[in-house]
Amino acid sequence: MEIIGQFAVSASPAEAVAIMIWDPDLEDFSDRECFGAKKKQLAGVVQELTESFRDTLPDAASQKFQEVDEDELDSAVPKELSPLCVYPLYYEKELCACLLIAGVEESQLAALCQDLSHMSCSLVITHAWEYRELSRENQRLRTRYEELEDRIVSMEEQTRKLIHDVMAKDALRTKHTERERLVYGISNTVRSSLEIESVLQRAVDNIGSTYQVSRCLVLRLEKVPETVEIYEYHSSGISSIREHFVSADGLHFVRAASSKQAPQYLADPNETVQGDFDLEFLKQLDYRSGLIVPLIMRDQSLGVLLLQDAIVPREWDIDDLSLLGALADQLSVGIENAQLHAEKKQQAVMDELTGVANRRRFMEVYHLEFERAKRYSENLSLVVFDLDFLKKINDTHGHQAGDAAIRSIGKLLKQSSRAVDLPARYGGEEFCLLLPNTDLAMAAQIAERARKLINETPVEGLGPISASVGVACYPQHADEPESLFERADEALYEAKRTGRNRVCLAGAVSLEYISQDSGSQGTGAPGGESTSSAKPI
Ligand code: GH3
Ligand code: MG
Repeated sequence: MEIIGQFAVSASPAEAVAIMIWDPDLEDFSDRECFGAKKKQLAGVVQELTESFRDTLPDAASQKFQEVDEDELDSAVPKELSPLCVYPLYYEKELCACLLIAGVEESQLAALCQDLSHMSCSLVITHAWEYRELSRENQRLRTRYEELEDRIVSMEEQTRKLIHDVMAKDALRTKHTERERLVYGISNTVRSSLEIESVLQRAVDNIGSTYQVSRCLVLRLEKVPETVEIYEYHSSGISSIREHFVSADGLHFVRAASSKQAPQYLADPNETVQGDFDLEFLKQLDYRSGLIVPLIMRDQSLGVLLLQDAIVPREWDIDDLSLLGALADQLSVGIENAQLHAEKKQQAVMDELTGVANRRRFMEVYHLEFERAKRYSENLSLVVFDLDFLKKINDTHGHQAGDAAIRSIGKLLKQSSRAVDLPARYGGEEFCLLLPNTDLAMAAQIAERARKLINETPVEGLGPISASVGVACYPQHADEPESLFERADEALYEAKRTGRNRVCLAGAVSLEYISQDSGSQGTGAPGGESTSSAKPI
């Protein structure tokens, strides 16, 4: 188009030339371009007069310049551009453009008209126009492509963000589910089991693995004697710190930690001073951050839940703290329940006055041990004790003194027994001592030692007391628990009958006296009854 436009300008005395592209689809001029000295003025006219030009298009068959009837145009043509001559360009019998020459008489354009027809300018213009259209389309497509690319990038970004959000929500949901499961699991275990050792070990394992800490410990404070019971979870590759709590420093730490009223954060002891804790002790625990959650029940400190991170320090958020507080409460309930249960269990088998086993417990164990002795063909000895002259003690010194005498026997039997022996208060002032895997000779020695101890340990406010003792042994004296008891009772009766404060052994034919403490009768011994005449065999 440039070539044709410039040619038209140079090959004629035209002030300006315009090429107006005709779009057969739109049936209108779709594009226009001006050339020459007055192209700007002509561009203004062409812009305004396109409508009029459309109606005054030259005859298709003419193929020559025709002067535009300016009277038919909507607005006036500037003088320097007048007259306007138009030349239609056809390609394959279709109008493709108009060439507008400004300021030249039609008669002066004959030569130009001829040159133009030789130049195949219709073809050139059509191709140029098509090329421009294609370029424009190309540009439009490129712009569109870039827009789409931008949109894809932004959609990718949005998708990434969406995936991230979904994953974060998913992780949060998983975290909540895990925490709920943890609380449910622990409260379930606490409710369903009174075996506090396994409850606490499971609790530290579950809390430790759910929170993915390096260590999780329950340090339970035992009051009598004051010691620390340790339940520990530590992740793989992390060392145990159990031994540190066996020491006096460990006990001191647990005492201080369990006296807190709320969870307390522990920072790296190598970087920060830690309140009222011994810094040197904390350094031995080898951690970067920690959390102390006290175990409290009805204002009583039961111990502490301790969580530690040994590699990377952790910040605990408010949700974690409240959940761990709730878990600590559950554990405290469990500990208290177990303590109450153990106390009740103990009470059920223990004699209240003396602290030794009661009759029920004794009979339970007695039958079991009898079965065992039979099964393994072992000896089982039974020793029965009866406090001498209790009635007199009660009458003379009062019931409390009588109780004290009973308590003293219980205490001494407990003190002098081996771990396998079972001392028990059988009832009133009668005690039993069960000696598993013990023959008659050994039982006689033990019985005599106990009798001596009782007799040589004065009761406060009462003085010396004494007891009579009977001994029987399985299988020597009986085959069944009941008959063995009878043999031991018979021996005891014989000890009473023959002077008290002595040990008698059961015998198939006769009973034997094996001991005698001359003049060492207890306070209650009536003056007239001698206990020194019985002789050992
Ligand atoms: P013996 O030397 O023959 O055993 O004479 P004893 O007085 O000890 O025996 P006895 O069977 O005649 O009397 C037992 C007394 O012990 C009668 C009862 O009131 C008293 N007694 C039983 N249980 C208790 C107790 O728990 N505390 C006190 N203080 N007295 C008790
Ligand atoms: Mg008695």
